[in-house]
Order: sequence, then structure tokens, then C-alpha cells
Amino acid sequence: MAPEAASLLDAKGVDAGYGTMQVLWGVDLDVRPGETVLLLGANGAGKTTFLKSLVGLIETRQGHIALGGRDVTRMRSSDRMRLGMTYMSELAVFPDLSIEENLKVGAQALGHADPGARTEELYGLFPVLREKRRNAASTLSGGQRKMLGIAKALAAEPKLLVMDEPSAGLSPLLVKEVLQVLSRLQQQGLALLIAEQNIGFLEVATRVFVLEGGRIRFSGTVAEMTDNEALRRAYFGLK
Ligand code: ATP
Repeated sequence: MAPEAASLLDAKGVDAGYGTMQVLWGVDLDVRPGETVLLLGANGAGKTTFLKSLVGLIETRQGHIALGGRDVTRMRSSDRMRLGMTYMSELAVFPDLSIEENLKVGAQALGHADPGARTEELYGLFPVLREKRRNAASTLSGGQRKMLGIAKALAAEPKLLVMDEPSAGLSPLLVKEVLQVLSRLQQQGLALLIAEQNIGFLEVATRVFVLEGGRIRFSGTVAEMTDNEALRRAYFGLK
């Protein structure tokens, strides 16, 4: 299946699951270069499962995934990373490793003998991490740990950062800080795919996909989503 030339990531008809349980049913989603796409869905909708199939942590049973025009459906996770797609899980860091070691692990995909220059750049973006570079990640506050997770993912110099619930475990104030960091990354041209239940992330999104019961129920711009009465009631009524 030929992907759209303009897409950085193009997933078509993705089915995935665990053992005999099918979780995803024909999921279509695309991300253009430099764009921020929000994948909204409740607990258990299948967001994590979809992200894992995108980055190659679980098998895509049906359908195709293209990255930068290349079919990566059967490609190893590490190779997808080398092509520019990095995954940030909910936990995102290795708690027993120091901040510096976490960044080095993140940079491994680059294959550089010395990731020092990239690490310095990241300390420029997140000065608090420089101050604590020798400390174990477990000693950081929840917000700082999330920043380290983002920095660790950026260490691989991705074109597309795939984030699983960056708001998980954070207070509303810290979520705002994460949103500010994401805006800065957008300005630098990074494309983001963010799986969330927190509609606060609509603030940074250009387009939205809504996943329900493993199927895409809606895709469109943020304005189109807010114009849709049923979605408005489902996602904004409860805020
Ligand atoms: P959450 O916000 O709770 O992470 P989600 O939208 O990311 O929700 P998934 O984690 O993808 O949803 O889960 C979708 C379905 O797959 C759920 O029914 C879940 O119980 C099931 N599931 C997830 N991981 C596994 C696994 N490793 N083995 C078996 N079933 C799983």
C-alpha cells in the first residue's frame, strides 16, 4: 500500500492484540512533518496498544505502518528508532540510573561513540537536569522525572516523538509545564504524537483522533472536534 507522500507517519488498517484478544480494529492514523497529533481515548481504549504497534513493541497483525515513506510494519523497534521515531512510555526513565546515564541510554540509537554534545544541548533545554546529573532518576520529583523522560527521548534526535500519557501522575501545574516544553519542541519542528485522556493537550494539537473500543471514532482538526456535539459532551462535559 503506497503511503501518502506528505505523511511522516502513516498507519493504515492496523489490527493488534494480545493472544486471542483483539484490541485494535483497522486503525488509521497519520502524522505530517512538524505536526502535533493527539490520540484521545478513555482507559482501555487501546491507546498504548496502538503506540506499541507503531514503534514495534508488539506485532501489527493486519495493516501497514510507514515512516518517512518506508514500510516499517515488520521492522525492528531499534531500526524504527534509527529512522526517527522515538517512544516515550508512561514511566519513561530508568529510576536506578543517574540522569546522565538515562540520557546516554536515550542517545544509543544515534550510534555515536560520544553522545556528549547532544547531552549538553539537552541540559540547555532542561537546566535542572544538569544540576542533578549525577543523581539517580528516582531522586527527582514527578515533574522533573517527566522532563528527564522527554530529554531521554530527545537524546535520540527523533523527527517524531511518540508519547504515552505524558500527564500521567502529574499535578495540573506540572501538566502546564509539560505543555510549555512541548510548545518549545513544536517550534523546533519536532512532530509529536501524544496519547492522552487529558483534553488539556488539545491546546498544543493540530489534529485529533478519538479511539473508542479499539476503533477510530473521529479524526479531524481540534475545531472540528469541538463542533461535534456528541464528542463535546463525552470529552468536555466531564471536565
Ligand atoms: P490506559 O490509559 O489504561 O493505558 P489504553 O487506551 O492505553 O488505556 P491499552 O493499555 O492499550 O489501553 O489496553 C487496551 C486493552 O488491552 C485493555 O483491555 C487491556 O486490558 C488490554 N491489554 C493491555 N496490555 C495487555 C497485555 N500486555 N496483555 C493482555 N491484555 C492487555
